[in-house]
Amino acid sequence: RHYNFCAGPAALPAAVLERARSELLDFHGRGLSVMEMSHRSDDFIAIAERTEADLRQLLSIPSNYKVLFLQGGASMQFAMLPMNLLGKGGSANFIQTGIWGKKALGEAKRLGYSCHLAGSSEANGHVAVPEQHTLALSRDAAYLHYTSNETIGGLEFNYTPQAQCADGSVVPLVCDMSSNILSGPINVADFGVIYAGAQKNIGPAGLTLVIVRDDLLGNALPGTPSLFDYQLLAEAGSMVNTPPTYAWYLAGLVFQWLKDDMGGLDAMDVLNQRKADKLYAAIDASGFYSNPIAPPNRSRMNVPFVLADAALDKVFLNEADEAGLLNLQGHRSVGGMRASLYNAVTEEAVDALIAFMADFEQRRG
Ligand code: PLP
Repeated sequence: RHYNFCAGPAALPAAVLERARSELLDFHGRGLSVMEMSHRSDDFIAIAERTEADLRQLLSIPSNYKVLFLQGGASMQFAMLPMNLLGKGGSANFIQTGIWGKKALGEAKRLGYSCHLAGSSEANGHVAVPEQHTLALSRDAAYLHYTSNETIGGLEFNYTPQAQCADGSVVPLVCDMSSNILSGPINVADFGVIYAGAQKNIGPAGLTLVIVRDDLLGNALPGTPSLFDYQLLAEAGSMVNTPPTYAWYLAGLVFQWLKDDMGGLDAMDVLNQRKADKLYAAIDASGFYSNPIAPPNRSRMNVPFVLADAALDKVFLNEADEAGLLNLQGHRSVGGMRASLYNAVTEEAVDALIAFMADFEQRRG
């Protein structure tokens, strides 16, 4: 297998794919694939329960939080969040640090909900996250939404914002963790809702994870479709309709891999820090590659960089491809390069990328 630096759908651990292959045609002697099982069967319910239990253990999720395994991607949450959290009135507050945060705000606005921008890094070109003291929530804030890691810009929060209004009251903090969930430990109790599309650190595309505090259930706006209502989804064990069973199962294998093979999230944290530090150090040491993000906010998961001569971009990408280093092209909206270093990207892959970059610079720089 080549080294895959794709931002999403991202590389999956080889050990997980091998395990899935070994169980593909015949799951545990049942004579059928997980893909072919009823979601209501004992076998699938056991898979679903184990997957949730492993995730709860990995993230130390307190018992007053529900874990939902949904469809529709993180983008569907952009709509579901206001539908579920504005039922008692108030406005959705946002911190915007890049393209995904902008989309979350845009979707809530499109649906006609009251929205307020509580903080933004737009003025600095999204190279540093706004500091806590600059955040200004509206008086009627119902919740504060932010994106802990902006996947395209490569900007990551190095602190957990406080969702405090001017009068001292605190509202639920809602976080889009699509591209850095499971990259290290977090304190779930700091959040009202955490959500993430699966296709980076969780599993294949098609599954969306939502972790929601119990007291935020049951407040959906009238007319909210059942498939969008957290309370109904939680009551049905995420099975209001047929869930994405195979993606759910693969996520379960990834959680087992994180626990059993990788030593849990403390160990992942150390490994991810080392991988990112190495790559940023190589970029900073060269006169040819550069990354614009303020060092404390540099993403550990997505490392964008540009070449001193953009005319060489295509050559760089072609040669990288030939060397077995795949998907290094930056997002189409920003260009340049981006190396995504999710959990399944090994340190060996990062070393190979750094060696390739040094060699390319020497030959072409
Ligand atoms: N939020 C972030 C931070 C993302 O990186 C992405 C996708 O890359 C999304 C949201 C949208 O995710 P989805 O494609 O699952 O809707």
